[in-house]
Amino acid sequence: MDNCIFCKIAAKQIPSKSVYEDDDLIAFHDINPASPVHFLIVPKQHIATLSDCDEKHAALLGRMMVLAPRLAEQLGCGYQGDGTGNGSGGFKTQFNTGPDGGQEVYHLHLHVMGGPRPWRGQR
Ligand code: AMP
Ligand code: ZN
Repeated sequence: MDNCIFCKIAAKQIPSKSVYEDDDLIAFHDINPASPVHFLIVPKQHIATLSDCDEKHAALLGRMMVLAPRLAEQLGCGYQGDGTGNGSGGFKTQFNTGPDGGQEVYHLHLHVMGGPRPWRGQR
């Protein structure tokens, strides 16, 4: 897709601080982090928004979600706990979709935000 910044990052035409890459996905640090750890998981294929996804994207979306905790762990913000609310660490995962969803870059991406609080604008 011409003039898409995340297509250009995926094609290495513009630089990014890489976190992960495989045949289908890349992950890189957000240039304007909202939290101490803030990276984006991005399919190499150009898909504009989550609303453009259907059943045939289910496996790709699943891989993005499964990758999030693995990379969060590697970057020091994994969830350490017993699954009951006890424990420490953790992160937010977020897809922004469309104008009312606050989407700025129209190439599908999953935000992963973690690290010690306070975060920008949050306690
Ligand atoms: P969204 O509002 O969900 O579309 O978020 C787009 C995100 O992409 C924002 O958090 C930006 O800071 C981030 N971003 C934009 N350009 C770049 C870039 N060249 N490298 C890394 N992150 C970027
Ligand atoms: Zn794109």
